[in-house]
Amino acid sequence: MLDDQALMQALNSTPVVDGRRQDLWQDDQELDRWAREHGGLGGDEERRWLRTARDALQAMESGEPDGPGEPGEPGGPGESDALGTPGAASTADVADATGEPDASAEAGLRRVLAGVHRVPRPSGSGIEWHLEAPAERGLAVELVLAWADVKERLPGRLRPCGNPECRLFLLDRSRANTARWCSMKTCGNRLKARRHQARTRETSGPGTE
Ligand SMILES: [Zn+2]
Repeated sequence: MLDDQALMQALNSTPVVDGRRQDLWQDDQELDRWAREHGGLGGDEERRWLRTARDALQAMESGEPDGPGEPGEPGGPGESDALGTPGAASTADVADATGEPDASAEAGLRRVLAGVHRVPRPSGSGIEWHLEAPAERGLAVELVLAWADVKERLPGRLRPCGNPECRLFLLDRSRANTARWCSMKTCGNRLKARRHQARTRETSGPGTE
């Protein structure tokens, strides 16, 4: 299973640099590096599935249609909902305050998960669950499962950065669950400084904090 860090790397692979959205995963080598680090095989098909999964997850979380154009459709139509894991991908809790996640994001996830099974196999200490998915799609499936796992384990903790100009996501592990920025250093300070400027302009006097 992919860990939270791997999931966040994937979600945060489209940072805004100098006001422009960059897609680090557009670079085949960059994406292959991430894939191999996490047990992937590299290669065209795998990359296409990973981009599809990432685009869909980003759109689910930001609540807006996303990504440059239609995600690729390398697979044929398969049976849906074949993943036999209770609660693995419930769609009920993904709609958040920002609005309905768009249908194409869900369709993207459905394509990634089509025909995937989890099967029990006996092991020394009981049973182990094995994921059965086409090899080139396996890592994309794991990415979606890692996302579903975070949603279940840390409900309400994964969200877009509070800076509307930022495209990153954060996973808030603080007790109070009040983190708003992908990073205090960048977005947090920038917005605080801007608000402070606005405030001092309004009140035009010291000591009114
Ligand atoms: Zn940010």
